[in-house]
Amino acid sequence: MHLDEVLKAELRVREQQGLYRRRFIVESPQGTEIHLRGRRCINFSSNDYLGLAAHPKVQQAFSRGIEQYGAGSGASHLVCGHMTPHHELEEALAEFTGRSRALLFSTGYQANLGIIGALIGPGDLVLEDRLNHASLLDGALLSRGRLRRYSHADTDSLASFLTASDRRQLIATDGVFSMDGDLAPLPELAELAAQKQAWLMVDDAHGFGVLGRQGRGILEHFSLSQQSVPVLMATLGKAVGVFGAFVAGSEALIETLIQKARTYIYTTALPPAAACAALESLRIVKEETWRREKLQALVKHFRRGAQSLELHLSPSETPIQTVILGDNHKVLRISQTLWERGIWVVAIRPPTVPVGTARLRITLSASHTESQVDRLLNALAELM
Ligand SMILES: *Cc1c(COP(=O)(O)O)cnc(C)c1O
Repeated sequence: MHLDEVLKAELRVREQQGLYRRRFIVESPQGTEIHLRGRRCINFSSNDYLGLAAHPKVQQAFSRGIEQYGAGSGASHLVCGHMTPHHELEEALAEFTGRSRALLFSTGYQANLGIIGALIGPGDLVLEDRLNHASLLDGALLSRGRLRRYSHADTDSLASFLTASDRRQLIATDGVFSMDGDLAPLPELAELAAQKQAWLMVDDAHGFGVLGRQGRGILEHFSLSQQSVPVLMATLGKAVGVFGAFVAGSEALIETLIQKARTYIYTTALPPAAACAALESLRIVKEETWRREKLQALVKHFRRGAQSLELHLSPSETPIQTVILGDNHKVLRISQTLWERGIWVVAIRPPTVPVGTARLRITLSASHTESQVDRLLNALAELM
């Protein structure tokens, strides 16, 4: 059969199942108010938790970076693409996370593929939470190690997969689960890892900048050290508001990644100006603790309001708040109606989340106002 015939049939099935994915064009900068599909909307879908993606100082740092270093990095880090801003950012990230060293990756997706591939090979074991981000799962598959998925946040389930063999065992988990907003039980995972001599890796994409008094992320929140969680990965495109990702850990870990991580070696370094912008943003993350305080206050305000409206929210104290509806078509319908009323909440459906758990994923930002949150609550109350 002809390519297009096969694909069209497949696409039709997706559409019927309510699984068809569409992109909507945003015609404005990111922010709590965006212009989307020709309509002004209050945005409750972004991962720009601290409101830094279009912060004037971050934008200025980007522009200055371009004036000084040009637009592109021209090569991978190991050829001639590793520039002053990249290196400064790595040093700042190591200091901020309180770790020996940090290594920049162009994206978080690549970081996860690279880390797991560099640490794990055939015959080794990768243990992952069932609800981990796709990039962690793909990293394990690509590594050719054996992947075992334990029940969500369940240390007993994890323990049943750990062995006493001397093969390498890597436990990898989201810190804040990206589609649920709950936290991994990291202290318990660290204890189990120590007992079984397994290595623990946390992907703090949604905790970095958001959790901990200074925004150092989930490890600050739980007061966990490099010793107990040797591999920390986080991204710079969410709370930091720019682009890119990094890994932080020991000298030996970082040197190993430089030698072996294929998604580090065989890809172009991110634009140097993006590193300049991330550096400025990191300074704001660290200093402006009011952003996290405001965010926490908004989360509480939203949850209190939702409770009085008897909306069924999943348990989460982070800016990721979800209403699980189950039915794909229903989630799409509600998302569409919200947009018509000037509110943007994206419909999250399988395979991003397990079958039967389609949901509205609402994200809050330090830049939201209480009255914007109230508008969302009122609209939800009418539609549910
Ligand atoms: C977004 C995300 C990534 C991927 O990061 P990018 O920089 O967007 O490629 C990895 N892990 C988690 C948990 C994420 O939410």
